[in-house]
Amino acid sequence: MYDKNNIFAKILREEIPCDKVYEDEFSLFFYDISPQAKVHVLGIPKFPCRSFSEFINITNNENISSFFKSVQLVINKLNIEEDGYRLITNSGINGGQEVPHFHVHILAGEKIGGLR
Ligand code: 5GP
Repeated sequence: MYDKNNIFAKILREEIPCDKVYEDEFSLFFYDISPQAKVHVLGIPKFPCRSFSEFINITNNENISSFFKSVQLVINKLNIEEDGYRLITNSGINGGQEVPHFHVHILAGEKIGGLR
């Protein structure tokens, strides 16, 4: 079950501040509090869902499309398309997910190590 008290739910309710990059009626993008790269932005749908799979399974196509179009809009806004970036979404225990509200990490600004 979705935990209404997870940190991103609190950010969406404006109980906790965030450094906003972009917002529309369906999604919110803000800087990660503990950046793992020169640019580290998190994108979340405003809809309560725990993971990528839950987002895909319970959200209508219009909203899924809107969210991922917003990811590209933020990529444009950050001007990172040419030099490149990495999109990550962690899910569940094996995926190392800490905050149980579906989110996309946008990492850029330098060469990102790790996965090949
Ligand atoms: P996960 O491991 O769940 O994929 O990533 C959660 C991310 O949320 C981490 O990168 C962590 O630094 C970030 N985070 C945790 N708490 C906060 C917060 O209160 N504000 C912001 N902006 N980011 C947070």
